[in-house]
Amino acid sequence: MPLAEFVASLPPSSELLSPVRPYVNHSVELKLPYTTDERTKRLEEAGLNVFQYPAEMVTGCDMLSDSGTTTMTNRQWAALHLGDESYGSNRGYFELLRQIQTTFGEQFANDPAENRPNAFLFHQGRPTEDALFTVLSGLGSDLTIPSNGHFDTTEANIEANHIKPVNLFSKSLHDIKSNDTFKGNMDIERLSSLLESSHDRIPVVYVTVTNNTGGGQPVSLENIRNVASLAHKHEIPFFLDACRFAENAWFIKQHEAGYANKSVAEIVREMFSYADGFTISFKKDGLVNMGGGLFLRDGGLFVQRYPQLPDALTNLQILKEGHPTYGGMSGRDIMALAEGLKTVTTEPYLAHRIGQVQRLGNGMAEIGLPVITPIGGHAVYLDMNRFFEGTGADRLFGGVSFTALLLAAYGHRAVELGNFAFGKYDPQTGKETLPEVNFVRFAIPRLRYEETDLRNVAESAYALYKMRNGIPDVAVTYGRELTLRHFKARFAFK
Ligand SMILES: *Cc1c(COP(=O)(O)O)cnc(C)c1O
Repeated sequence: MPLAEFVASLPPSSELLSPVRPYVNHSVELKLPYTTDERTKRLEEAGLNVFQYPAEMVTGCDMLSDSGTTTMTNRQWAALHLGDESYGSNRGYFELLRQIQTTFGEQFANDPAENRPNAFLFHQGRPTEDALFTVLSGLGSDLTIPSNGHFDTTEANIEANHIKPVNLFSKSLHDIKSNDTFKGNMDIERLSSLLESSHDRIPVVYVTVTNNTGGGQPVSLENIRNVASLAHKHEIPFFLDACRFAENAWFIKQHEAGYANKSVAEIVREMFSYADGFTISFKKDGLVNMGGGLFLRDGGLFVQRYPQLPDALTNLQILKEGHPTYGGMSGRDIMALAEGLKTVTTEPYLAHRIGQVQRLGNGMAEIGLPVITPIGGHAVYLDMNRFFEGTGADRLFGGVSFTALLLAAYGHRAVELGNFAFGKYDPQTGKETLPEVNFVRFAIPRLRYEETDLRNVAESAYALYKMRNGIPDVAVTYGRELTLRHFKARFAFK
């Protein structure tokens, strides 16, 4: 029997239960062998605040964030050596601009010499946002920027510039029974009525892909197209917050009718074909540890309506970051970024990346943990209200207790994003205002962990779930009334 015939008769590798990674370890970091006692003692010294706990002592998986925590490929490490640290117009700048056009579309062409500055580099996402909202705030008073879900720093930067952020989450987002794949979508009806009543006060309409605040849920191309067309009907520029553009495109390919046979690269270009501009933190799908930028469609609606703003943006860049051709990044970081953008849209990478997140989430759900479904692209969320349901005792900050135990007992670092992180305390009345959702998030860094590491995370969470009746609440011993209190507060078990 010829080899090919026999091979064809076997079950394909993709149908086996344990997936093989589309990469191999190039170099590894050895962990230090901290014991449970050492972790526990150190976490107590940190007031049970996982942000203040030394990363070096995380002996399991560090799932505090997927931002800037990517493991770079050997091609990126090689690209670092080609970095050019010249003050003006370093080699990587031109390489990056070519890659931006290849990845996102020719329309993001940039030529400052012809007075068409369309590319603005910054050192990460939030200074980019600050620059954009600073220049937009000069357009008038009483402005509003709608989104399918602004990221927290985006929202904070909008507010800091006296503009009102509005989140038009999809109706299915917080419906735990809904299995809608595209829970990240914007609510089109609410956008339509907001535009009818307030279009004069809306300088841009934003869509975040994937919807980080909404649990990393994807946005469909149909929704992007509809939002863009509504915005354009009112002559309002349409922007993407593009941090996880490739992960979003992968969901479109898998789940949206008509896209199964398109490549991710084609889907990405279609997503961006509707945008008049985008802001991006490259710490996510740039596959680098630092970087950000703002890119405008050459001659698009944004530059037509606000022709004075590109120059104002350039001035802010020079004032706060440096020469526009490096924008707060080193030349070597720019080279690593140009290389990272080539990898992130490749399908074996994305299939494994999203598959890893899905397998962790589905594995947790199968053993009975209260996971938010469907599972998004970069993290798994546990619902702490459901986790402690039926245990008889009220725990205001049970998510904080959970993350402390997970770190001390099992060495994994997750983060509470719920009653403590998003709640507000009024010291006058002693009242806590609680947010809509009470989650613990397990964010999965890119190219960093193996399947067995993540299975251990699920088992550890389950071990705590079995003991949930006995898990105490925490008292806040410092910082309950502070803004952004979850970064600074201290706790003790009650
Ligand atoms: C991370 C993030 C940002 C901010 O980027 P930083 O690089 O962390 O400043 C903005 N929007 C979204 C959706 C993000 O995930």
